Amino acid sequence: MTIACSDLSVYVDEPAPKVVLSWGLGEDSTAILLRWLEDPTSRDFELNELVVVSAMTGNEWESTRAEVEEHVLPRLAAAGVRLLQVARARRHVTKAGDGVVVLDDSRSPTRLYIEGAFTLYDEMVEAGTIPQSGGARMCSVHSKGDALDPVIAKVTRGQPYRHVMGFEAGERRRAEKDSGYNTDLRTGEYPLIVWGWFRDDAIAYTESVIGTGVGKSACTFCPFAFANKSNRAEIFARYAADPAVGAQTLLMEHLALALNPAQGLVGGRRLIDLLRADEMTGVLDAFDDVLAAQPHALYDVRRILRPRTNDPTKLGNAARSVRVRMRGTREEMDAILTRLSKEERAQGVLEREVGADGSVRLYRHRRGPVFPTIERYFAVAPALAADKAHDNFNQWWASALAATPAVSAAA
Ligand code: SF4
Repeated sequence: MTIACSDLSVYVDEPAPKVVLSWGLGEDSTAILLRWLEDPTSRDFELNELVVVSAMTGNEWESTRAEVEEHVLPRLAAAGVRLLQVARARRHVTKAGDGVVVLDDSRSPTRLYIEGAFTLYDEMVEAGTIPQSGGARMCSVHSKGDALDPVIAKVTRGQPYRHVMGFEAGERRRAEKDSGYNTDLRTGEYPLIVWGWFRDDAIAYTESVIGTGVGKSACTFCPFAFANKSNRAEIFARYAADPAVGAQTLLMEHLALALNPAQGLVGGRRLIDLLRADEMTGVLDAFDDVLAAQPHALYDVRRILRPRTNDPTKLGNAARSVRVRMRGTREEMDAILTRLSKEERAQGVLEREVGADGSVRLYRHRRGPVFPTIERYFAVAPALAADKAHDNFNQWWASALAATPAVSAAA
């Protein structure tokens, strides 16, 4: 059973904790936790002064759950350490914690609630996109940080606390950046850096205590995890072991690509191309089955592409409108697209394009070579994305269209 963050009162009679550990379930923060449990000289506080908090995106690997439940939770329970598992229950949560749920608040935890509540996957497909791998990890800021911050504020009750993060010795810059979020109440602490432990040291320590590692913790579709070849190989092996997980990832990418061909999960490249190259037939077959079972939609996609202020030859930002025009089976939607294609192409209104992956787009406006420019097309994809546009989009579109005479006749 879950409780709202605003009702968080399970241990309300206890003093506020001095130390809060953000436990990301990965090798780094797990090693800190285990060392604190095993070696009292590694800490300067009592375990009843500690609260461990963990935010669930809803898309963690099953293997992480299994290792943590078998090896770590029993140790936490034996030591009576309080573990809070939290998640967002909806896309937007308030600073006060409305929309955040506490999945479990226990000093004897037995279960890891990796299913979360409103999952990052749900958020991404509803928006018809993927987690963005450029710049700040906004997916993490929202799916984890937004859930953790109000809960930490609630349990620490306005008292000063030490906020422990699992940055390892090679992550000093991340620690420096994190310390920029210190306040009168919060002081960031980074024990692995103090101990001089790199990731390998953390893994070795965990193995020495529980006989195994806990593996890399991440969302099953994390674009950062695809960043290098060896990580990719590891994830592909996990997909091979559980093709349904790989198929769900491909479904997310497939939808995002239909709405924006540049949205490949592997730094802009398409995950599906890499899986094909590696002949991952189990995952690809599972994806075909998932796709065939999905209700589909005919999407109307409009995009306004604006120039950079300091360099008008480069793209600065884009505004997008996605509208669902029709829903049905994949075959029905494809048939409508084909009919539209024949009828309207005859009038020179729409232009058909077949992508490298076989996907069809019917363009009403193609983007021009100079910014600002606009584009509009129709495409068929799984009916998972919701209508989405900025409140002012139609107004912007009308202005952009009027300023684009070469295409305005076909609006
Ligand atoms: S694991 Fe990856 S996808 Fe998931 S929240 Fe973190 S950065 Fe985003």
